[in-house]
Formats: sequence, structure tokens, C-alpha cells
Amino acid sequence: MSLRDKIEAFLADRSLQPWPIHESGFLVTKDIPFDPGTRDACKANYCGQYGRTWACPPGCGTFEELKEHFMGYSCAFVYTTKHDLEDSYDIEGMGEGRRKHAELDDAFIAYLKDEADPHELCDAGGCSICKKCTYPDAPCRFPDRMRRSMESTGINVMNLSKELGIHYINGVNTVTYFSMIYF
Ligand code: SF4
Repeated sequence: MSLRDKIEAFLADRSLQPWPIHESGFLVTKDIPFDPGTRDACKANYCGQYGRTWACPPGCGTFEELKEHFMGYSCAFVYTTKHDLEDSYDIEGMGEGRRKHAELDDAFIAYLKDEADPHELCDAGGCSICKKCTYPDAPCRFPDRMRRSMESTGINVMNLSKELGIHYINGVNTVTYFSMIYF
């Protein structure tokens, strides 16, 4: 079974997904909208992750280095989860959605763990594998498992969703999270 077949099997079997994939799509890496301007937005630090882990700027490497790294894969699979909120100020609900999305990421990576073909997940909010990241005092503990956020790699996620024909926003009082698996 190819890695793509395995991804499609995970997508088709809801029982494997701790929280359901809402929308998804495959694309070839040459169609991924890498945009150096996205990295500038990281500096505004709206997510609070700038300069906190090896998976986000500036520790994750330059835009050019990361683009070259990810262009080494031929394809990517992008998927979303959608979560209802009480209102647009429901920070707790957003955090809960983020946690559920991360559980789905973990289940997906665990499902693919015996695959020999190289693959790598980028997620919605940077790396949270360790309770306390070693950045900047010591090297990353798990460079092979580290999860970069899609934005930190310079991907314009809104343009990516347009490219795939999936929703960036799913209506009022909802939050949508994205991840992608390169392979
Ligand atoms: S794996 Fe651990 S040390 Fe490496 S970036 Fe993630 S949190 Fe930091």
C-alpha cells in the first residue's frame, strides 16, 4: 500500500479519527502557496509562539531553508477540523478545539508510524511535544518528531484553502484548524 493509499484509508475510516476530519485535499508541492510575507506576520506574535520553540521563527530556520526542505517532498495532504464556539470570544472553546485537532494529528501520525516512505506533519500551532522546549539553550530533543506550524514554513493558509477548494472559515461561532502531511 502506498503512503497515499494509507492516508486515504485513514480518511475513509472515521473510527480511526478521534475527532472527524471536516474537509481535506491532496496537492503537489509545486502548487503550495509559499509566501515570505507570511513569516513577517509571525513576528507580530498573535499566537504567542514567536521565539518560543525550535519549530517557529526565528529558531526554525529561514523561509528559503524551509521552502527548500518541504519542496523535497512531492505531495501533501491537507485536512481541517471544525469546532463550534459559544461566541467569537470563546477562548476556552478555541483551546478545546485546538486540543482535539492535536489529538487527531497524533492519531494520524501514529497510524503512519511504520511507513518507510518519508513523511512529515505540519500543524496549526507549532510544536508542543515537550512540556518545556529546549529553545534556545539546547538543541531540539526530537528533531524527527518536531512539528512546525504551517505559517512558520511560510505557507499562506488562506490561499492554500482556496487552492484546494476547502473552507478557511466555516461560519460564525466556529473555529477551523488546519494540518498537512507532506509525503
Ligand atoms: S520537540 Fe521539544 S525541543 Fe523540539 S521543538 Fe518541539 S517542544 Fe521544542
